[in-house]
Amino acid sequence: MSLTTDTDLAPLEFAVTRNLAAKTAAERDALLADPAFGTTFTDHMVDICWSTGGGWHRPRVQPYGPISLDPAAAVLHYGQEIFEGIKAYRHADGSVWTFRPDENAKRLQRSARRLALPELPVEYFIQSLRELIAVDGAWVPSGEDQSLYLRPFMFAKEAFLGVRSAHKVAYYLIASPVGAYFKSGAKPVSIWLSEDFARAGKGGTGAAKTGGNYAASLLPQAQAYEQGCDQVVFLDAAGNVEELGGMNIVFVYRDGTLVTPASESILEGITRNSLLQLAEDRGLKVERRAVSLQEWRDGVASGDIVEVFACGTAAVVGPIGVLKGHDFEDVQPLGDVALSLRQELTDIQYGRREDRHGWLVRLDA
Ligand code: PLP
Repeated sequence: MSLTTDTDLAPLEFAVTRNLAAKTAAERDALLADPAFGTTFTDHMVDICWSTGGGWHRPRVQPYGPISLDPAAAVLHYGQEIFEGIKAYRHADGSVWTFRPDENAKRLQRSARRLALPELPVEYFIQSLRELIAVDGAWVPSGEDQSLYLRPFMFAKEAFLGVRSAHKVAYYLIASPVGAYFKSGAKPVSIWLSEDFARAGKGGTGAAKTGGNYAASLLPQAQAYEQGCDQVVFLDAAGNVEELGGMNIVFVYRDGTLVTPASESILEGITRNSLLQLAEDRGLKVERRAVSLQEWRDGVASGDIVEVFACGTAAVVGPIGVLKGHDFEDVQPLGDVALSLRQELTDIQYGRREDRHGWLVRLDA
């Protein structure tokens, strides 16, 4: 299956409407001082329309604000929606960069295919990031562990009742300055094992980044909070570990091997793949294979598993400190692999260390 990358594609011509009520520099600086995750948004947003007859058209940069939708818009009824999450980082010289945007663009295409939505060309995806940074670049914070979280998303906006893929679709990009995802910083997180609910199934939408997967994770996540846990982890029907509600999972073994679940129903994390590449660069062995709950619990009990961590764009890396289920609570061993890989990855992202894989793409030039 080839993805839609067309090197001859002409760039889109965005119509830019400036936000006349944009925040002043002082207001923006106050908001950037200590941004909570995903609660503050920049002054502008990008949108591109798509229709079966017209393809991608009407690319715009416009003031951030509410979207007007027909009450019959298909997304509100059938959930035909996908999204991405990617960050922009400010380097010490003031320049603004992002990390492996082609990977997010391709994942958005894979999600689109699964949800019967149109595939946005990789070039348009990356151009949309540049267009937003061109007007809202000042919103990229410069504090430690801060970044501008970029949220591209696409949904069925055609107004009709009937189960079929929509003929009119909208792509949007919004952005939110963020600090550390976990209020506890890099402190270990506690994980609730979801034994009552699954997130995905064979042949389902688990590998797609679509709102329905997250909707299905909210009740188990609420259970996790009730149990005093930060996050929830899901199993497949055979009892193999899949992933957390919004992060992948990696196990570190005593011999230095890093093992991560291989499954067609989990989200292929870009953070995970990058961390595993860095681990391989260090000469560590990496395995992508099934890991049963039994293997996890036995490995921790025997000392074969020496660290377990969660990873994703939002939180980067979170060591797992506890795994709790209905009738057990396993304290997890802590080591320094997770945090040292986190340091290496963030050093690359923030331009403090050589980007030897060519992962960074400049957005403001
Ligand atoms: N798994 C799920 C369900 C997610 O929502 C995310 C976050 O995007 C990830 C894994 C990690 O993916 P990435 O590292 O690309 O952010």
